[in-house]
Amino acid sequence: MKPNNFIIIGNWKMQLAFNEEIEFCTENIAVLRSLSKKSPQLTMVICPSFPALAPITHIVKNTNVYVGAQDCSPFRSGAYTGQVCAESLSQIGCHFCIIGHSERRHYNHETDKEIADKAQRLLEQELQPIICIGETQKEYEAKETFSILERQLEPVLKRIADFELSELPIYIAYEPVWSIGTGIIPSSKYLNEVFAWLEKYTSKILGKTRITGLIYGGSVSEKAAPILKKVPAISGLLVGRASLDFQKFNNIVNLYSI
Ligand code: PEP
Repeated sequence: MKPNNFIIIGNWKMQLAFNEEIEFCTENIAVLRSLSKKSPQLTMVICPSFPALAPITHIVKNTNVYVGAQDCSPFRSGAYTGQVCAESLSQIGCHFCIIGHSERRHYNHETDKEIADKAQRLLEQELQPIICIGETQKEYEAKETFSILERQLEPVLKRIADFELSELPIYIAYEPVWSIGTGIIPSSKYLNEVFAWLEKYTSKILGKTRITGLIYGGSVSEKAAPILKKVPAISGLLVGRASLDFQKFNNIVNLYSI
């Protein structure tokens, strides 16, 4: 089942250092606050780096803007140097967490099993996972999209379905790797096909009543947003580069706030 609210998530990756992240938020908080007031049907999420999470949850307090992490540990606690557990994310006021981003799958060799573990850790802490999936250019050209998406989704969705985890909405972000940072947006025909498949597959595993937001990510811009708005199954956007330019982010959000 689709969530009521459209969700727009800004993934800041490691593009800004701590001081810049705080500055970005404090400079734009007034506009963010009025944007979120004006559009209660819209959920905005900012995903800064780990050190900026706690201070930013304070800056956006009492607004409809939420904070998400870009990753979490697959473990609850223990001797895992450098990792951050879901419990800490919850304690500092995060509501969301991106997992399985293609950059982490590529640079950190994350497996589908680890991503399922992360989703479980998040839901145990009442945090909403944003599960990223997507095929590479080579896989796209070989027409392997659906088998890749099934391979990436099956372990995580089965884990969510098999365990008695929180009933919180979950989010699946379809981000074709060939679209991330390239300026290339898939055609509406292709997106309609992929999102129809995602709707069918997620409700087959999770059931029709589980709230599941299907998000698109990859080169979302002011120019691309109106095209994406015409794909009815898309109930959110994951925005990378354009989320770092407040005017551009604002224009994308404004398009969905009417
Ligand atoms: C991303 O990497 O999650 C992303 C959507 O990036 P961009 O918008 O820059 O393509």
